[in-house]
Amino acid sequence: MISLALLGIPFDAESSYRPGPAKAPAAIRAEWERARSYSNMTSEMGVKLDRPGLLKDVGDVACGTPAETRAAIEAMVTRLLDEAHRLLSLGGDHSVTYPILRAVHARLGQVDVLHIDAHPDLYPEFEGNRFSHACPFARALEDGLVGRLVQIGIRTLNAAQKAQADRYGVEMTTMSEWDGPGPIEFERPVYISLDLDGLDPAFAPGVSHPEPGGLTVREVISLIQRVEGRVIGADLVEYNPDTDAGGRTAPVCVKLVKELAGRILA
Ligand code: MN
Ligand code: MN
Repeated sequence: MISLALLGIPFDAESSYRPGPAKAPAAIRAEWERARSYSNMTSEMGVKLDRPGLLKDVGDVACGTPAETRAAIEAMVTRLLDEAHRLLSLGGDHSVTYPILRAVHARLGQVDVLHIDAHPDLYPEFEGNRFSHACPFARALEDGLVGRLVQIGIRTLNAAQKAQADRYGVEMTTMSEWDGPGPIEFERPVYISLDLDGLDPAFAPGVSHPEPGGLTVREVISLIQRVEGRVIGADLVEYNPDTDAGGRTAPVCVKLVKELAGRILA
């Protein structure tokens, strides 16, 4: 039986504006426990997620300095893949995706990435920092870790990031071009990187960089469900409990974790 490792990443030192995503793993786990009472732990596609042994919470990455944390993430993900787990990471700012993709590439070769986000995160550097949460996909593309990078939800494109997207052949659908969640076919194994600010802040206010005009919860779930290919892992990043007035975003995170887990295990 395939099992799915749930890995917390309590790290937000690469956030460019305000911290908070380090608190996401604990907040998502707490809401998951509440959801066991108010919901049903079966994904919409029918995967019963509370079946013994199916989901394994492997705890949190030991975070330190940014460099230490990147090394720890890479080592932990490598170990989980070696143990034949698939991966779903919870929390952190978006900088965590680069070390995850390094480990995935070392074990599985190039993967295709479905990246849902308000921001392209393609800056060569941001405020002098190559490892900022505004840069992970620039690093991944430079290193050749990714085959196709398919971006959905983008609504902050500027000339610098457009140049990067053109340079690396990024398949970007901006919100101004968005025509609904159709199926997306992939040849390589697929990794889904889900930045919560890809959703409209009306649905997910608990983020550090709210950008109106985004995706609905339903559209993101449909995107996840309509991926055609073998999904080997995913991350849910940039949830900020500090800005989650009324706790409205936590149930959204749990819903997305359920659908991502169900899709990875389907
Ligand atoms: Mn992002
Ligand atoms: Mn973002």
